[in-house]
Amino acid sequence: MTQEDSSHPTDFIREIIDDDLKTGKHGDRVATRFPPEPNGYLHIGHAKSVCLNFGIAAQYKGTCNLRLDDTDPSGESLEYVGSIINDVHWLGFDWGDRLYYASDYFEQLYQFALQLIKDGKAYVCSLSADEIRDYRGTLTEPGKESPYRNRPVEENVDLFTRMRAGEFEDGAHVLRAKIDMGSPNVVMRDPVIYRIKRAPHYRTGDKWVVYPMYDFAHCLSDSVEKITHSICTLEFENNRPLYDWIVNQLIAGDRPQQIEFARLNLSYTILSKRRLIELVEQGHVAGWDDPRMPTVAGLRRRGYTPEAIRNFCAKIGVAKNENLVDISLLEHCVRDDLNERAPRAMAVLRPLRVIIDNYPEGQVEEFECANHPQNPAMGTRKIPFSRTLYIERDDFDENPPKKYKRLAPGREVRFRNAYVIKFKSVVKDEKTGEIVELHCTYDPATRNSPPPDGRKVDGVIHWVSAERSLPAVARLYDRLFQIEDPAGAGDDFLKYLNRGSLETLTTCYVEENLKDAAPESRYQFERVGYFCVDAKDSLPGRPVFNRIVPLRDSWSKIAGHEKK
Ligand code: ATP
Ligand code: MG
Repeated sequence: MTQEDSSHPTDFIREIIDDDLKTGKHGDRVATRFPPEPNGYLHIGHAKSVCLNFGIAAQYKGTCNLRLDDTDPSGESLEYVGSIINDVHWLGFDWGDRLYYASDYFEQLYQFALQLIKDGKAYVCSLSADEIRDYRGTLTEPGKESPYRNRPVEENVDLFTRMRAGEFEDGAHVLRAKIDMGSPNVVMRDPVIYRIKRAPHYRTGDKWVVYPMYDFAHCLSDSVEKITHSICTLEFENNRPLYDWIVNQLIAGDRPQQIEFARLNLSYTILSKRRLIELVEQGHVAGWDDPRMPTVAGLRRRGYTPEAIRNFCAKIGVAKNENLVDISLLEHCVRDDLNERAPRAMAVLRPLRVIIDNYPEGQVEEFECANHPQNPAMGTRKIPFSRTLYIERDDFDENPPKKYKRLAPGREVRFRNAYVIKFKSVVKDEKTGEIVELHCTYDPATRNSPPPDGRKVDGVIHWVSAERSLPAVARLYDRLFQIEDPAGAGDDFLKYLNRGSLETLTTCYVEENLKDAAPESRYQFERVGYFCVDAKDSLPGRPVFNRIVPLRDSWSKIAGHEKK
């Protein structure tokens, strides 16, 4: 783990743990878990929870389990399990041999439910779902007791056993905890803890037709695994009394404690699995790992690093109040990391041909260039210079604005790492008037050195050799949503999709050194941005580069970060 990660900030959860360690509430144990339901890919919000749970375990020399919370057969799959395992590992965390599945506890959970029935704490209710809802009451009115509430224990045992045996249709009966229909907390009004659901489960097949509800399964799974601190998001705050109630009925001794924190909300981003599934299934993106997706798989393919994501999670911290985190903070963390680690390269995304009239035809010179301006340990590489080169179209302007620092009529600029080049003339397409190529001259006395006569040049631009470069594709990504809070738009969120979130440039040229660039390797294309070799769409000798982030850092401007 990196340095930033090990300097743990304190927060209210760590304070609770410190107290528990002082009082010996759980002895000297700290055991957490990350419990995703395998019904979608993990996203950056999950990453916050991963960093928190695994981070706490590491800090307190405890353990963190990875538990697939797979108690609802609809929508769960092995594909999702595989992606979750992959993504948590990629984020840099390890659960040793503690990979668990809630579905492995089905028999145990069923026995717990039977126990509750036998203790007179649960009953089979035969009201319909609508009736149960009507009987539940409202926030201001108490609920009404079900007519089945006082069924004798033997009848409950018999019905529950037959529910399991598949004798009844879906919805015919449910098992409810017998708590308090008059409780001010609606969650405590005899909640349903088991239901009949005739749906195949991706792991247990058709073995089960009754499935435990989240509130029942989760706290007991925590108990079975001897979790000490069960950290979850704020929407479960009202469920905490139920968590405690169930655990208190069934578990003796050291019991887990639920602690809630504010989920991550990120500007211009949707972090709800249900909505992310819509984006994928309706084809608004090219899959769960589309580089525009806020999924861990998408961020990875985009080129984000696990270090940057962990650092982001450390920076945002954990709190009890929800807020909207500015996505430019995440981009800032990515840039910060890549600035140090990404080797530099030259790439021209929108090429304009330049012919150096006084440079000998067929001649090629190789310039030795540093791979990183501040880090000599990253070595050097050779870049070929030749008579025909490419520069960016917008590095030339026939009628430049006043402060233009690039090539223009009458001007001289340095071609980075090479010579000072002087503009001579422009060739245009006779019909369209479009600029086709430039003619320039070079000053041989400026090879990697300033002009000997002391004259000033107008700027520095990047370039690649036309003969000795590699054609490439570049994909420029923008935010997937046009508005800051698409989650706030509710079901209308698709209206705010940014239709221009992907621009594909197919006629780019990159320096030939990138011919064998490994999938997922990242570069800073000088003056252009950070790019990552796409692991799926690159072809041999024709890489596809995803733009990770542009160079400009709006976060450090906003926050006054890093200003000297
Ligand atoms: P949905 O997005 O449909 O609400 P979910 O993201 O809560 O589902 P889970 O698989 O239950 O799906 O999440 C696993 C863990 O990640 C839970 O402990 C949950 O609290 C946490 N988590 C989910 N979303 C966020 C988020 N945005 N920020 C922080 N933690 C999150
Ligand atoms: Mg959830």
